[in-house]
Formats: sequence, structure tokens, C-alpha cells
Amino acid sequence: MTIFSKIISGEIPCYKVAEDDNFLAFLDINPVAKGHTLVVPKKEVDYIYNLDDETLAALMLFSKKVAKAIEKVVPCNRIGISVIGLEVPHAHMHLIPINTLDDMNFSKPRVTVAPDEYVSLAAQIAINI
Ligand code: AMP
Repeated sequence: MTIFSKIISGEIPCYKVAEDDNFLAFLDINPVAKGHTLVVPKKEVDYIYNLDDETLAALMLFSKKVAKAIEKVVPCNRIGISVIGLEVPHAHMHLIPINTLDDMNFSKPRVTVAPDEYVSLAAQIAINI
């Protein structure tokens, strides 16, 4: 079972942003930028391009709703999307508020977000969905 399946089942906590029957969105615990959010299909599939077509398409539409909400909360030029998957073998999209190309750089030091700030970011994004 992946760490994301444990989050989906509630075994491990997360800063939840949005959820429906098939997808969960929550804040990345080691963010590249404030508001960095992960969107995960509840179906446990490692490689995003091994998702069935319907789930892959719906994942993009679900992430669109989440991205529009992040934009309202975190001042940014736009939401960058990225798929890596080298750390957690459970398909997911990274949604990252960006202003410059460097804001998408996963090699740079991650930002620190205090626990109460995570809580308020997640809550603010959630109410904008
Ligand atoms: P990757 O698989 O390379 O796309 O990276 C996985 C991402 O998941 C990283 O940005 C991690 O910071 C993030 N991550 C790993 N564990 C957790 C967790 N328990 N809660 C939130 N984010 C996590």
C-alpha cells in the first residue's frame, strides 16, 4: 500500500483540499512553493500513463477545479503542473503556484510552511472550490 493510499484511507493525516469519490487533493508536505498541492486518484496505480483513459481525463478535470481555487488564495502568475512520481509510486499531479520558471524547480530548497499555515491554506483553498 502506498503512502498516498494510507492518506486516502485516513490512516495517515493530510491537509485536505478537495475530495470526491475518485480523487483526493492535499497539500504537499515538502512544498516547492506555498500552496503546492498534490492531486491523486484513489485508484492505486503507479505510472500516470497506466491509468485508464477515463480516470486520466477525470484527474485533469478535477485538478482544474483545484488549480482555480489555489489561484484565488495564493497570489501567482498561474498554476504550473508537473508529474514526476519518482518518490511515491502512486500516480499524482503537482499543482504549483508559479511566477517564474525557477518556481517549478524541484531541485531547489523547499519552502517551510508552519502547521497552522498549512491548515489555513488548505481551508482557504477548500472553500474556493
Ligand atoms: P514524486 O513522487 O517525485 O512526484 O514526489 C512525491 C511528492 O509527494 C513530494 O513532493 C513529497 O514532498 C510529497 N509527499 C510525500 N509524502 C507526503 C505526505 N505524507 N503528505 C504530503 N505530501 C507528501
